[in-house]
Amino acid sequence: MNDLFIQDIRKINQKIITCHASLKNLNTMKIDGKVKYLIKPTTFLETKKVLQVIKNYHIPYHIIGNGSNILFTNKEKECIVKLAFSFKHPLNILLANELIPVIAEKFLKNNYKGLEYMSMIPASIGGAIVMNAGSYNHHLSDIIEYVYYLDENLNFKTINKENCCFQYRNSLFKNSSKIVLGCKVKLINESNEILKKVMHECSLLRKNSQPLEYPNSGSIFKNPFKYKAWELIEKVNLKGYKKNGAMISEKHGNFIVNYHLAKYEDILYLIKIIEEKVKKEFNIDLEREIIIID
Ligand SMILES: Cc1cc2nc3c(=O)[nH]c(=O)nc-3n(C[C@H](O)[C@H](O)[C@H](O)COP(=O)(O)OP(=O)(O)OC[C@H]3O[C@@H](n4cnc5c(N)ncnc54)[C@H](O)[C@@H]3O)c2cc1C
Repeated sequence: MNDLFIQDIRKINQKIITCHASLKNLNTMKIDGKVKYLIKPTTFLETKKVLQVIKNYHIPYHIIGNGSNILFTNKEKECIVKLAFSFKHPLNILLANELIPVIAEKFLKNNYKGLEYMSMIPASIGGAIVMNAGSYNHHLSDIIEYVYYLDENLNFKTINKENCCFQYRNSLFKNSSKIVLGCKVKLINESNEILKKVMHECSLLRKNSQPLEYPNSGSIFKNPFKYKAWELIEKVNLKGYKKNGAMISEKHGNFIVNYHLAKYEDILYLIKIIEEKVKKEFNIDLEREIIIID
């Protein structure tokens, strides 16, 4: 442990660092492991200061949101930053760590549309911006006006939606050192009945088609042009295929579930089997949507 590093982080805020934390509750696949320093800044300014200290000490770090699109390797992680803002803000400002299902409920209560088709995505706003998350052809980016972030030199920046390069599961922020802090969205009125109906229907569709009863990370692969990844996986007869505690879901071929204490190696084994079989059968290179955090 680097005592000076810990001291410097505690100078920013006594309570934001935990040493030797478990990874299990930091990812929806529930892969277990350890991280030396887990840091949870509570304001924009604390985030900037924390990252400055991390850089000063040359500590390798990862920023995560709700951990619903990541796969941790079995290596002990040095440092993870997970934003934990909790200050008051108007409804059209969304903080990076707020969860889509929670905001969708707030929008429903106040009769605003935009998140009703996405209310079952277990993403943080930050993660959803980075991944340009969406479902049923509706994306968080549809209602975004501006994104607030820290750039590579830790300067606060505001960027308008047009410059965010939002594409299918991609954005300016993916594979970059930018830290998304939040966004400003358009508030558009909609009738409460319509919002409720859409949310109810989407929720039913998901419960019927996705293995929500087991820990998982959503879709493992992006849909290749003109194809559905789940269909290709189904066609190569991999649904239900297991490796120790991991299984390619019987309900949805593009989901891998942790049905019993699965490890990183088990999930990766299944990912590779899918890639190999789909390549052999259809000559298609599936592109991973899940992000491996080493
Ligand atoms: C049951 C289930 C259903 C799902 N359904 C859908 C769906 O319908 N549509 C869809 O698009 N996705 C879906 N997903 C996948 C996932 O929810 C999305 O990819 C989501 O955007 C990830 O958000 P997160 O907060 O969990 O990010 P994480 O998984 O924690 O991180 C994802 C990436 O974003 C980066 N990141 C996170 N926060 C920040 C930040 N503040 N600043 C900079 N980088 C950051 C991380 O470093 C990582 O590279 C589903 C997942 C599950 C488990």
